[in-house]
Amino acid sequence: MAIVTPSSATDRYDVIVVGSGAAGGQAAYTLAMEGARVLMLEAGRNYDPRSETPMFKTPDAAPLRGRGTPDKPFGFYDATVDGGWQVPGEPYTNALPEKGREFKWWRARMLGGRTNHWGRISLRNGPYDFKPRSRDGLGFDWPISYEDVAPYYDKVEMLIGVYGTNEGLENTPNSPDGVLLPPPKARIGELLARQRGRSIGIPVIPAHRAVLSRALDHTSIPAKLHPGNAKAQRLLAEDMQNRAACFWATPCGRGCAIRANYQSTTVHIPPAMATGNLDVLPNAMAREVTVDSSGTATGVSYVDRTTGLERRVSARVVVLAAGACESARILLNSKSAPFPSGLGNSSGLVGKYIMDTVGANWGGHIPLLEGTPPHNEDGAGGGHVYTPWWLYKEQLAGKLGFARGYHVEFETGRRMSEGPISTGDARDGRVSYGHRLKEDARRYNGSFVSFTGRGEMIPNEDSFCEIDPHVVDKWGIPVLRFHWKWSEHEIRQVAHMQRTFADWIAAMGGTSKHRPDPDGTKAIEPGGSIIHEVGGAIMGAKASASVTNSWSQTWDVKNLFIADGAVFASNADKNPTLTIMALAWRAADRILDEMRRGNL
Ligand SMILES: Cc1cc2nc3c(=O)[nH]c(=O)nc-3n(C[C@H](O)[C@H](O)[C@H](O)COP(=O)(O)OP(=O)(O)OC[C@H]3O[C@@H](n4cnc5c(N)ncnc54)[C@H](O)[C@@H]3O)c2cc1C
Ligand code: SF4
Repeated sequence: MAIVTPSSATDRYDVIVVGSGAAGGQAAYTLAMEGARVLMLEAGRNYDPRSETPMFKTPDAAPLRGRGTPDKPFGFYDATVDGGWQVPGEPYTNALPEKGREFKWWRARMLGGRTNHWGRISLRNGPYDFKPRSRDGLGFDWPISYEDVAPYYDKVEMLIGVYGTNEGLENTPNSPDGVLLPPPKARIGELLARQRGRSIGIPVIPAHRAVLSRALDHTSIPAKLHPGNAKAQRLLAEDMQNRAACFWATPCGRGCAIRANYQSTTVHIPPAMATGNLDVLPNAMAREVTVDSSGTATGVSYVDRTTGLERRVSARVVVLAAGACESARILLNSKSAPFPSGLGNSSGLVGKYIMDTVGANWGGHIPLLEGTPPHNEDGAGGGHVYTPWWLYKEQLAGKLGFARGYHVEFETGRRMSEGPISTGDARDGRVSYGHRLKEDARRYNGSFVSFTGRGEMIPNEDSFCEIDPHVVDKWGIPVLRFHWKWSEHEIRQVAHMQRTFADWIAAMGGTSKHRPDPDGTKAIEPGGSIIHEVGGAIMGAKASASVTNSWSQTWDVKNLFIADGAVFASNADKNPTLTIMALAWRAADRILDEMRRGNL
């Protein structure tokens, strides 16, 4: 089995997985490695990072020195080849496009989806994060607890490779000994942030990122991940040996041809394909899940984007993993006699409670970091340290004025600049030329730091997506219309971020780019712009109040599962993808069990 076309795909599979990103990759991997015959439908084109990644290109070889453009917002060399805030021919709409009510929707139409680009920050949710309502009365508790997901976090971390340390901090879980890879050393700016952060009571610890700081242990991990399955162990051991350790030199957002970081295209799909159990069908845009008169899912109808023709494939089980909002869209568009308001929607909750991460940025100039010696490598293409939320007790005691926390990511260092070295802030806006420019570049490169706050959003009634009754995409498929609103909790959280960051820059002896604004509405990033979309088909303990049960299985259709972030009942400050993969693995295990028992 391999990359297939509509005519070479077989008629019937055990499982159809829609989407090939973190969720689809993980679900297909687990299912195929354990013997299920799987068809993966991917709307985007085939993509092979090993041959297509522009890892070593320099800014001077790109238009505008590689700067972002509307087509490539993250820069010319960004790994996302088809996608962005707008996808040609595939619009979405906003019910209320005014500031603060708009949702921005990022999509990557390519094999591997957003995992080809993502930041690789891989944090576990903690015990509080699965029971937030029990702590403060807001939002929803999940029907599962940290203990249910922990074994899957362990497995995912071992499979993809995550660097970091166990620090034993509150609601910041440790991994079992030996699971995490050693973190890289902190950069000089990160060391200063740690030292001065300590003086104002803020911890800084090694980041957790899905980057191989050393090669994975192919002699022991495969047996832990696939006990009793000699074939899976052999294939995974072979594949792990083809993943090199990071050489600390290139931006991870371009992808990694040596397979040192996690992307679905380099970690999940190759070993799954090697089993012979996985067929991947690119350019297949799922329109709806088909059902029979008894309400059982029979397969998926999709548009072959190369011909525009409508096609169908069938399977015993369907897994939606198209990204949270896209999976909600497929459910809402899957209308039939037994399900006139869409599939899985008897509760009326499909599309409801979509969430993003709360975001705000802050930058400053730190004279202490001027004139550091030039060096030829600057570590991983991402942070080496971060700050987990540290004010749980003060928050629970009601001292902060908002209900949920945030973590802090840092940008420091002396990476090769895509534009002129920014000296404006340090030199009161004066621009330098010629010899002076070179001196300034040497002096100021590395002397700027930026803090990024990433906070928890509480699900609310005003943030949801629905089918726009008037607009279809170029395939004739009805599109999503978004509604969005931040609550006072998120707005106040951002105001707190700003004050914290301003204090921190001052503690580092630096100057902030601007003054903190007590009004968080000005600093909060628009909904969707952190690209951590979750919710829209939340899991719960009761069919009347949720779309799936605790196994990510829809209440209404027992052979339909949702593997992506749509099932999140809350969106902790922790970046969602590690949890998406853990839940996808767990759902796939459930499918395998239920198939073995003859229940599916
Ligand atoms: C710039 C950036 C930085 C990020 N950084 C981080 C980070 O550091 N940490 C973190 O945890 N998360 C991060 N994320 C978010 C992370 O990428 C997502 O959470 C993750 O990829 C979600 O996985 P997914 O499988 O649900 O969706 P995706 O990875 O988007 O995959 C969905 C796939 O489904 C396909 N698809 C969609 N609709 C259909 C359809 N109708 N039919 C067939 N196929 C379809 C898409 O083409 C896509 O390939 C980042 C994202 C971006 C863009
Ligand atoms: S920094 Fe390391 S993991 Fe990231 S792209 Fe470069 S080699 Fe790969």
